[in-house]
Amino acid sequence: MFDAIIIGAGAAGLFCAAQAGQRGLKVLLIDHAAKVAEKIRISGGGRCNFTNRDLDVRAPHKHFVGQNPQFCRSALSRFTPADFIALMDKHGIAHHEKHKGQLFADRSAEDIIAMLLAECADGGVQHWQPCQVKSIDVSPSGSDGGESYQIETERGRVQTPNLVIASGGLSIPKIGASDFGYRLAQQFRLPLVERTPGLVPLTFDGASWQPYAELAGLALPVEISTGSKKERVSFHEDLLFTHRGLSGPAVLQISSYWKPGTPLQINLLPGVDMAQVLSEAKLHSRKLVANELAAHLPARLADAWVARMPELQRPINEAGDKALLRLAERLMRWEITPTGTEGYKKAEVTLGGVDTKVLSQQSMECKTQPGLFFIGEVVDITGWLGGYNFQWAWASAHACAQAMAEK
Ligand code: FAD
Repeated sequence: MFDAIIIGAGAAGLFCAAQAGQRGLKVLLIDHAAKVAEKIRISGGGRCNFTNRDLDVRAPHKHFVGQNPQFCRSALSRFTPADFIALMDKHGIAHHEKHKGQLFADRSAEDIIAMLLAECADGGVQHWQPCQVKSIDVSPSGSDGGESYQIETERGRVQTPNLVIASGGLSIPKIGASDFGYRLAQQFRLPLVERTPGLVPLTFDGASWQPYAELAGLALPVEISTGSKKERVSFHEDLLFTHRGLSGPAVLQISSYWKPGTPLQINLLPGVDMAQVLSEAKLHSRKLVANELAAHLPARLADAWVARMPELQRPINEAGDKALLRLAERLMRWEITPTGTEGYKKAEVTLGGVDTKVLSQQSMECKTQPGLFFIGEVVDITGWLGGYNFQWAWASAHACAQAMAEK
């Protein structure tokens, strides 16, 4: 008999196990993969962007997506980026800030995994790994009116009054992602919000993308937007052209808001009034339009844009005013409709998941199923790129561990 059994030894599961163990609970942590925390290992280019200093815990809707982003406020305000930074400092793991509050380990994501395992060891956590869970049943536990969960695994049967699901989302199936958490939610008749890939490159059909495919590898800062006026969302980030479509931080961020069938608006020259720049250049320059443009944009991009406007393949002083204005418009308001995404094999996260309506925001416990908890990415809370997803994993794990220990 364990006080708590946690399924999934990723970011949320490891941290919850450590926190619960250190609060005196007897904890078993089960994962079907041979290695713990594969996503931490590959995250942030191997250095793990483990949190973000710019997180505004009073306004989680600024950095989190879901049917009710306010849900994560309680957990995030009780375990903040500063708390995780303090833990890193306690373990002597050097870290640095890169861009927009994003914090990375100086050396390797492996240091963070080692830290989480050391914290689990401090809490006396038992690990069963690799270990498949075959089935889960529940029955009333008797005296205290609670539930007892029986978990049938390939290493035998175990039971607990507190079952924590930390099995993550669907992205990157080849390193252990599964739909386990969603299936379990269905077993207990809990509502699910539709799952789709998030923080994912966007694709275009072959013919419509052909003129841009030659730009693969090119990156530049842009402003990217989606949604109608009232719900418009914009990011100022780098855009990357690929053979199949668009990627880079700008596109990963906007992908979590993009609705299939709707267009993206991209300003390839944010902060520049290109109509003004071109009309002034026309007065004193004899350079080709493409060369004039190349002072503001990568030359390959300038060439590709002008190549589709024969009337502008000439010195700028000979170009028509209307044609220059059209060019400026096309650069500053490039509108393009993706046909899809690169899917879960490339997505960093899964949007949707266990509906927060049925969970307590203080404890992550299911309101209709006492003793059953969901934490981390399996819940319908998705962070922006930049360390927000790990912060949600740590904070929801902490809230759950605290609640189980206080029962
Ligand atoms: P996970 O970390 O995915 O852990 C789930 C665990 O459950 C896994 O160990 C898995 O093996 C186990 N499991 C699954 N199914 C079963 C089952 N049936 N039985 C038993 N165990 C099971 N976020 C950031 O904040 N910063 C970053 O730098 C960052 N970089 C990323 C880079 C990549 C390439 C990817 C894919 C994601 C990145 N993310 C990043 C997102 C982040 O990794 C996740 O949001 C986070 O790991 C979610 O934590 P979790 O514990 O909920 O799930």
